[in-house]
Amino acid sequence: MDHDMLVRVAAFKWLGEQVQIQGEVLTRELLRQGFEFQGTRVPLISPQGIFKPRIMDFPLSITTSPNSPYDDVLSPSGFLGYRYRGIDPSHRDNVGLRQVFEQGRPIIYLKGIVPGRYLAIWPTYIVGDDPQRLTFEVALDDVSPMYIAQPAHMVADDADTRRRYLTTQVRQRMHQTAFRERVIEAYQSQCAFCQLRHRELLDAAHIIPDSEDAGEPVVTNGLALCKLHHAAFDKLLLGLTPDYEIVVREDVLAEEDGPMLQHGLKELHHGRILLPNRHVDWPDRDALAWRYARFRDAA
Ligand SMILES: [Zn+2]
Repeated sequence: MDHDMLVRVAAFKWLGEQVQIQGEVLTRELLRQGFEFQGTRVPLISPQGIFKPRIMDFPLSITTSPNSPYDDVLSPSGFLGYRYRGIDPSHRDNVGLRQVFEQGRPIIYLKGIVPGRYLAIWPTYIVGDDPQRLTFEVALDDVSPMYIAQPAHMVADDADTRRRYLTTQVRQRMHQTAFRERVIEAYQSQCAFCQLRHRELLDAAHIIPDSEDAGEPVVTNGLALCKLHHAAFDKLLLGLTPDYEIVVREDVLAEEDGPMLQHGLKELHHGRILLPNRHVDWPDRDALAWRYARFRDAA
């Protein structure tokens, strides 16, 4: 393994550890700080999209910004597109990424989810270069947080189908993560039902489930809920009217048990939810009506 590859592998290992500790979405600050390799600090991100740390020979990461729909489009051959830096194919960064492609070196794909927060996907491979469209083609693998370094010679034809499939899968997962982050952000990292502020205990609940056609992963079809209230909402112990009033199912109200039932569930009855700051993020009333009808049926 050459020096560049050793640093690369160390970067993957470090990322895996961070995901274990922080969860799968990492802050820009953490990625900017990076890790230490033999006494030298190695950042993983820079303001430019294609990033090569000083102690490496080739780019280590590519970054997309949260509001860059272009980067989410699949190419005709089924991979993600990644735009060149600028319009000069021989710009240093584009040349670097082309070398990564030719040598089959794995890189890190940093998907901006909301400002300052990224989902890291690795190992990611550049599998195509289209100077006409000023675009690289990117295959996303799905082995994080465990990492497997695949040498260049494994980039064989039969691996292509697998890669296309994985890219679709990982893209799907990125959408789910983006939904979660955007919903939790909209509710300022609080449970809409009980105001609990522990981000690591919060989920983005669908109002209309994603198994339904109308169950879109958009903020207005979501609620930030703590684990308890997410489960209670999904199991129809709790309902939410289109006027944002919480209703506890009658049989639950009638139960007698300890403080968790009392404070955690029964006391929410007739309470109002915490709403996002921005009106455009408020839960969709039609979606709530649909969901509340399900709750009435269960009650
Ligand atoms: Zn809660």
